[in-house]
Amino acid sequence: KKIVIAIDGYSSCGKSTTAKLVAAEMGYAYIDTGAMYRAVTLYFLQHHIALTNPKEVQDGLDNIDVSFHYNPKTKRNETFLNGLNVEDEIRKMYISNQVSEVSVVAAVRHAMVAQQQKMGRKRGVVMDGRDIGTAVFPDAEVKVFMTADVDTRAKRRQQELLDKNQLINLDEIKENLQKRDHIDSTREESPLRRAEDAHLLDTSFMTIDEQVEFVLNKVTT
Ligand code: C5P
Repeated sequence: KKIVIAIDGYSSCGKSTTAKLVAAEMGYAYIDTGAMYRAVTLYFLQHHIALTNPKEVQDGLDNIDVSFHYNPKTKRNETFLNGLNVEDEIRKMYISNQVSEVSVVAAVRHAMVAQQQKMGRKRGVVMDGRDIGTAVFPDAEVKVFMTADVDTRAKRRQQELLDKNQLINLDEIKENLQKRDHIDSTREESPLRRAEDAHLLDTSFMTIDEQVEFVLNKVTT
């Protein structure tokens, strides 16, 4: 029987790296819900949508189509916004600096959550985000909540950006992570929090392989 695996937690704890490998191991689809909020943020910035204007926000949402397509060249799923590949653009710092403010807006969350529930309706998915185990799939068979020491997270994130040729100062990254975590966990609509039945996973001193093992163990037991 196919299940849903929900992986939530703070920014840059290794959620997506772990989720991707778990999905490959299970033969499941991997869905990066953070990429969806990042794509919405990119669209809102491009179209100068005022977050305080409900009509503009709703019109924007009605015109947004986010999808994922496998790229055999990079061997990964890439994010498309209205048919355009935005995978690299949405990972840039100016998006990271705005995405949490966009994600606070209730209408944005309702649209994204509805789409995520549709994507996972046949189950057989690993989904990572902030509210998967609490709001998107409260009935997920396996829930994991990831944390890690903020300095460790900032260093990992810096390396990730460097791999994409973006050299960003460690303090700037740390500040961004802390700001996002704060906004994400204090918003009114489905804030970032550990579901009561989520397994806590602190990845500060763990290798990727150990993180994947941890999640797979929860599937089989
Ligand atoms: O996962 P990632 O760091 O790419 O997510 C970017 C931002 O998108 C988060 O900081 C949060 O503001 C928002 N997000 C969310 N709910 C999710 C996934 C991401 O609000 N399920």
